Order: sequence, then structure tokens, then C-alpha cells
Amino acid sequence: MAQQDWMSDEDLSQRLKGLYDYEQVEVPKIPESERLLGAAEVVTGYTGTQARIEAERCMQCQDPPCVEACPAHLDIPGYCEAIAEGDLDRGLEIVMEAFPIPGSCARVCYHPCTDVCLKGVEGMPIEIPRLRRYITDNADQHAFDYAIPESTGKRIAVVGSGPAGLSCAYHLRRHGHHPVVYEQFDKAGGTLNTIPDYRLPDDVLQDEIEVLREMGVAIRTDAPIAGDGSIDALLNDHDAVFVSVGAVKAREVPIDGSDLDGVYHGYNLLRRLDAGESLFGRKAAIIGGGDVAMDALRSALRTCEEIHLIYRRSPLEMPANPEEVFEMTEEVIQQGWHHLAVEMSTERRVERFKQIFHSLESLTLDRMEEIEANLTREMKAETFDRLDKRVGPLAVHFMANPTRVVDDGQGRAGGLELVRMELGEPDDDGRRRPVEIAGSEFTLDVDTVVFAIGQQIDADWLGDDHGLDLEPDNRISVDEAYRASRAGVYAGGDAMRGPASMIEAMGDGRWAAEAIDADLRGTEGA
Ligand SMILES: Cc1cc2nc3c(=O)[nH]c(=O)nc-3n(C[C@H](O)[C@H](O)[C@H](O)COP(=O)(O)OP(=O)(O)OC[C@H]3O[C@@H](n4cnc5c(N)ncnc54)[C@H](O)[C@@H]3O)c2cc1C
Ligand code: SF4
Repeated sequence: MAQQDWMSDEDLSQRLKGLYDYEQVEVPKIPESERLLGAAEVVTGYTGTQARIEAERCMQCQDPPCVEACPAHLDIPGYCEAIAEGDLDRGLEIVMEAFPIPGSCARVCYHPCTDVCLKGVEGMPIEIPRLRRYITDNADQHAFDYAIPESTGKRIAVVGSGPAGLSCAYHLRRHGHHPVVYEQFDKAGGTLNTIPDYRLPDDVLQDEIEVLREMGVAIRTDAPIAGDGSIDALLNDHDAVFVSVGAVKAREVPIDGSDLDGVYHGYNLLRRLDAGESLFGRKAAIIGGGDVAMDALRSALRTCEEIHLIYRRSPLEMPANPEEVFEMTEEVIQQGWHHLAVEMSTERRVERFKQIFHSLESLTLDRMEEIEANLTREMKAETFDRLDKRVGPLAVHFMANPTRVVDDGQGRAGGLELVRMELGEPDDDGRRRPVEIAGSEFTLDVDTVVFAIGQQIDADWLGDDHGLDLEPDNRISVDEAYRASRAGVYAGGDAMRGPASMIEAMGDGRWAAEAIDADLRGTEGA
């Protein structure tokens, strides 16, 4: 059995008194004062005692909603129990049943499981991903027995090495097949490689990908699949094809000056920072309110003297993950934003509960809505009051939109022109659209401009006559078993959903592998 440190008598007696029951065991992080000094990982992970106390809070629910909410249906109560019993080998076995690269997932997962954890109805939900990280930090994936069965002799091409492709290849291998992953870039991991090291260290991800290679998954980097007839060629050489090319094409920036030096798309900027380039100047503007904006902003905080965040709606509509907002605000030490993180997270949990339980569990819903209502108007007012101000190196500009990047006279960004917005009439989906306020233009003095305004799916690589049905936004159409419109071709992850999340991609990879395996065996038996 893998070793872990044991609970002290004092910790045990505190737990027995119920002192920890409603509260999460706080996740250890490096001191705020050290965070901006480099790329060190911010969250350091639970100790054995902390993990065991947190795991023991799990109520081992019957029909656990956390498992249903996890797209890969990970047995969460199972691994909580294993941690509580000190059996990390069993914990690893449970985790590896669901998907590969679990330590990477534990660090960045948006955890739909935690959002619906029933412990959260009267207290704080279980820290599900951080408990998973505790297992992967302390049990050896390289030494794990993956029980690969006898070879089926079937080769499956996996296009793209992000979480969807890696998960599909992993599960195919565990069925005895021979997946070959083709990745256009020089490094496997897909979009996870854009996530900065302070959230997901590169060595953690690459070490976990190495486990797949050790299992016999062939991963070919610098291997783009492109051009007319590429799907035909793959089908000629393989028994099936899984398309997991993600949504990695930068959305075009529709304003003057977007082609100047010093102007980047968020996705491309983060990928280049990961490759070791130094791209920020002294003063940066980040445009957007999602996770890519937060990652770009937090990266800028580590090098720039002055950073401006620009978002065209109000802070409550920012789609960014609350934890990222929270960690970012810890970094700029702006107390007002902490309320924002709490509000967003609670609203999301209510939304999740509604999705999962529908008309069931009205008590749970009522309770959740009560929690939301308890966030007082004063708190919201205070949040807004503090937000549109400068704190340390960061200035935030809500309800503002860029209109032009100013040329410094040498072909480089020398400023950003913006216009203030107000909420206009509701549009088709009932949301009030932001509209420009005439005459409210203002200019920021910046030398780096980052547009974190989203990615789209690139279908150019397919060439002509690929025979796949595509949605208007290039998403690959599939049936409920991830089968695309051509026999032998399957798709999942962002290429099928549009920009989504790591855990959804991993779930797709898992269930697509099951479908491919069943179809290949069906073919075999026919
Ligand atoms: C900056 C940023 C931060 C994010 N943070 C989080 C987070 O914290 N938590 C979370 O859950 N999600 C996060 N996401 C979203 C998450 O990364 C994606 O949803 C997920 O990676 C999608 O997985 P995928 O396997 O479908 O595609 P991807 O991970 O995008 O992988 C697709 C791969 O296919 C390759 N490829 C494309 N075309 C070809 C071709 N023709 N031939 C060969 N290879 C090809 C690409 O190079 C890429 O490596 C973030 C996204 C971004 C951009
Ligand atoms: S919902 Fe929460 S308490 Fe219930 S089994 Fe899942 S993690 Fe444990």
C-alpha cells in the first residue's frame, strides 16, 4: 500500500467533535507575497491528515449526484472512502478506471461534481478535485498495473492530443487496441499546454502523458493531419478514427490595429508563453471575461507594471471560473472581488442543481436558493462600488469595449481606444445587450493588447470531400455513441461540443472509446 502520513490524535479528536464537518479543509497555497515572483504552482496540495479529514466529510450518498454530474462518471465516494481508509492504491485504481492524466485534471477541473455535492446543502461541498490530487501526488501511476489485455491487433487513429484524444487512446489501449495519436504541435497535451504553470505545471502534465506512452499508446508529435483525402487516408491505415482536434483557432479581432506588433490573441499568447517566449511589455490590456482572460491577466501580473482588464458587460456576467477570479483577486489583494467569487460560485451551484435534479429534491433547491438570496444587496453594491477602480497594478473597466489599437508610429501597439457601454433592450435570448454610449471614448496607455475573446473550430484541415457532417460553426455532428456521419469515424471534445472543458473532453474520450471498442468487436464477430 502507498504510504501516507497519519492523523494526529489532536486532529482526530477535533474531527470527532465535528469541528470540521461543515467546513472544507482549506487547500494549502503558497503565500500571497510569493505568488507573483514566478511561475510556481499556487496550490500546494493536501497533506495526508488534511486529505483524510476532508475525505471523511463525504457522506457516501446513495445515488451520488457528484458521480452523475461528472462527465466521466468517476466514482468519487469510492475514492473518498479509500483516502479515509488510508488506501491510496485503491484510490488510484478508482481514479484510473475513469480517465488518464488525473493529477492534471485535479488541478484545473471545473468540477461539476463539487457544484452538486450534497454536503454543500448544509455547509461546504467536498473538495473533490483536491482529494483526487492528493491521490495522484502520493501514488505512483508509472507503477500501476493497467491490466492491458491481449492485443486485438486493431489500430485506431486519434487526431489531436488534448484530453479528449488522450482519454480515448487510454481507454482503447486498456481494451487491448493500438491507438496512434497524431498531434500537429511538438508537444502532446492539447490546449492544456496553454494553461500557465502556476495552475498546471508542465512537468506534471508531461509526466502523466508519459504514462500513456509506457502503456503502449503511440503519440506522434509534429504530425499534422491535413489536406484533401486525409480522412480516407486515415481510414485506409487504421480500423477507426477518433477526431479530437479541439477548438484552437483564434477568433478574428474586428478592429483597426489588431495586426500591430504587441497585439495577441489570448490562446496564441498563452501557447507562446508556455514555449518560453517573453511577450508582455510594461503595460498590458486584457480584453475578455472568461478563463483565457484570467490566465492572460494572471500571467501579466507576474511581469507587467500595469494591467487593465476590459469587459463589455458587468462583473456578474463574467463567464470565468470563480476560483480563478478568486485566486487572481488574492494576487492583487482586492477584497471587494472576493464577494464576486462567492456570488458567482453560488449562482452556478443553483443552476447546476436545477439541471441535475429537475423537479426532484425541491428541498435541496429551496435551500440552495435561500443561500443565494442571503447574499445581500449591500454586498453586491459594495462589490460594484469597489470594482471599477485601480488596485495595485490592476485597473478594471467593466461595461467598456475596445474600438481601435493605436499605432505607436513604429508598427507597434501604443495605446488602446475604448468606448463605454450601457445595457440596452433585451435581445432574442432575453439578455440586455450592451450598447455603446456615444461620445464616451477614452484611451489607455498600453504597449501590449491581448484579445481573449474565444476560439473556434478549424475545419480547413479536413480539405474537400471529407464526407463528415458539420454544424454551421464547424462542430462535428455525432450520434449518441460519438459516431460521425462516416462509418469508422468518431469525434469528441471541443471539436464536437465547441469550446468546453477538460472533464467533458475526458468523458467524451472515455465513452467514445467504449463505442469504438463495441463497434470493432461487433465487426469482428460479424
Ligand atoms: C487558456 C485556457 C485555459 C483553460 N482552462 C481550463 C481549465 O482550467 N479547466 C478546464 O476544464 N478547461 C479549461 N480550458 C478548456 C480546455 O482546455 C478544453 O476544453 C480542452 O482542452 C478540450 O480538449 P480537446 O481534447 O477537445 O481539445 P484540445 O485540448 O484543444 O486538443 C486538441 C489538439 O488537437 C491538435 N490538432 C488540431 N488540429 C490538428 C490536426 N489537423 N492534426 C493534428 N493535430 C491537430 C491541436 O494542436 C491540439 O493539441 C481552458 C482553455 C484555454 C484556452
Ligand atoms: S455528493 Fe458529496 S457527500 Fe455525496 S457522495 Fe458525492 S462527494 Fe460525497
